[in-house]
Amino acid sequence: MSDLTDRLQEIRHRIAEAAQRSGRVADAVDLLAVSKTYPVEVIQEAVEAGQVMFGENRVQEILLKQPQLPGRLQWHLIGPLQSNKVRKVLPLVQMIHAVDSVSIAQDINRIAGELGLHPKVLLEINLAAESSKHGFTPQVIREQLETLYGLDRLYIQGVMCIPPFDPVAEKTRKYFTQLRQIRDELEKLGGAPLPVLSMGMSHDFDVAIEEGATIVRVGSAIFGSRAAKA
Ligand SMILES: *Cc1c(COP(=O)(O)O)cnc(C)c1O
Repeated sequence: MSDLTDRLQEIRHRIAEAAQRSGRVADAVDLLAVSKTYPVEVIQEAVEAGQVMFGENRVQEILLKQPQLPGRLQWHLIGPLQSNKVRKVLPLVQMIHAVDSVSIAQDINRIAGELGLHPKVLLEINLAAESSKHGFTPQVIREQLETLYGLDRLYIQGVMCIPPFDPVAEKTRKYFTQLRQIRDELEKLGGAPLPVLSMGMSHDFDVAIEEGATIVRVGSAIFGSRAAKA
């Protein structure tokens, strides 16, 4: 077995254990392998080890890699999306994780209409209201939820966050709890289920799962550290 296969197995095992600690079965949590910056040969290794869901943060990389890999894979866009890339990326992805403004949501909705698609999207929440980060602050999402639900092409499935980085995973727990609470609140406010919680990365996915994550986005723990920051 290759190192990558070993690491994937170990991560799946930890996911199952953390799911159990949160009173759920392992299947309740999806592993999104974040393959940004890694070449298709490495992704192919993960595919051979049974991995199906891959996350990229740049549209350009999806366009480049997808045709070289099996068609049955699922691709998720996890990075910010610009209007001029919407038309290209919509037909290629299973889910868009980082819808971070009403204006991009409107663009996605309009182009989805033109293409006859109903994209699944998540709303990115900027929990710490960091000015350097994308996303709706908790206050703004409460105000804009109704407008977003008016965009009838979008399947709004849940929320995602990228909390402020702390090397100590336990210190990030409060943000994961907060995202779950905001999700619960938005479900009541909007009167619609938001089953997906996309939270947790290589160094803190166990904690995120304990707090209810349904998708964890794991890159370097599977593929090794990225040469350049993506
Ligand atoms: C890169 C990235 C990840 C994965 O980060 P790792 O620390 O390598 O697991 C997760 N989510 C987003 C939005 C990313 O850009």
